[in-house]
Amino acid sequence: MIPGDFDYLRPRTKSEALTMLREGGDEARPIAGGHSLIPMMKLRMATPERLVDLGALSDLNYIDIDKEVRIGASVTQHQLIESTELHDACPILRETALLIADPQIRYCGTIGGNVANGDPGNDMPALMQCLDATYIIESTNGKREVKARDFYQGAYFTALETVELITGIRFKAPAQGHGYSYQKLKRKVGDYATAAAAVVLSMSEDNVLDASVALTNLADTPLYVAEAESILTSAPLSPITIKGAVKAAEAIMAPASDGRGSSEYRTRMGGVMVQRAIEAAVERADK
Ligand code: FAD
Repeated sequence: MIPGDFDYLRPRTKSEALTMLREGGDEARPIAGGHSLIPMMKLRMATPERLVDLGALSDLNYIDIDKEVRIGASVTQHQLIESTELHDACPILRETALLIADPQIRYCGTIGGNVANGDPGNDMPALMQCLDATYIIESTNGKREVKARDFYQGAYFTALETVELITGIRFKAPAQGHGYSYQKLKRKVGDYATAAAAVVLSMSEDNVLDASVALTNLADTPLYVAEAESILTSAPLSPITIKGAVKAAEAIMAPASDGRGSSEYRTRMGGVMVQRAIEAAVERADK
């Protein structure tokens, strides 16, 4: 449980950090809160020779809100919970962050580290897919943007190159009066999800105007349930349309059998999380 040797670098600016990553090539890794990377280094599942600490980069720590929500990669889960402006604009972020680990981890763990990590058990990636977020990615070669829905390729495989950093995340602020819910089944406080679902929707009377559903830890990657919106908006909301959306979600789940349960059990629980999240979001939405 002791990591291998590594050089530790603490840049003061984003451009210094990007240069250090480029010079380190495949052997360099950024470190943010360290709550995913350090356990992996202790298990020798990650053996970087150079760690580039993002902790002193103040230009990655911001929350800006107008019609769009923009969050810097170094914003911690604790900061997401504490921001009243963010809660007013997009309350599902606080709801989700409060279900991650425990306060000690949330004080250090960052949104950038959580979405970059590629662990299917991380909660923010599915939420980012639900919100149709875009990741801002930078390297010494410049800037590019990748949608959260296109970013994840497999467990711990993402669209990120080793020399790149996620510097921020942006998404359109959900409509005023929207309904939302993040439902997470876990074995105990502080655990990763056995199954979890994020839902954001808008309603007018009994009609769902738009809906977005995404899933955590129900496959090797987070899953956006593309079909759910057309099912939920196809007819006035009823147990039938909700069941249809649940079935569409279950159809794309492929969880591993593991210590959290068999694949069948986790799929069934995934369906339950989707149903509960839709019902809670409907309850909260202005009609
Ligand atoms: P780090 O650990 O520093 O980095 C993680 C990975 O992302 C590394 O590969 C690193 O190189 C890379 N990285 C970091 N920042 C960037 C960046 N800006 N650009 C590009 N790459 C970057 N998470 C959950 O979502 N849900 C849980 O229920 C949960 N439970 C936990 C329970 C325990 C006991 C522990 C220890 C952790 C748990 N976590 C959970 C993980 C926690 O939320 C981590 O903090 C988070 O996943 C990673 O964020 P970090 O800032 O610590 O990143």
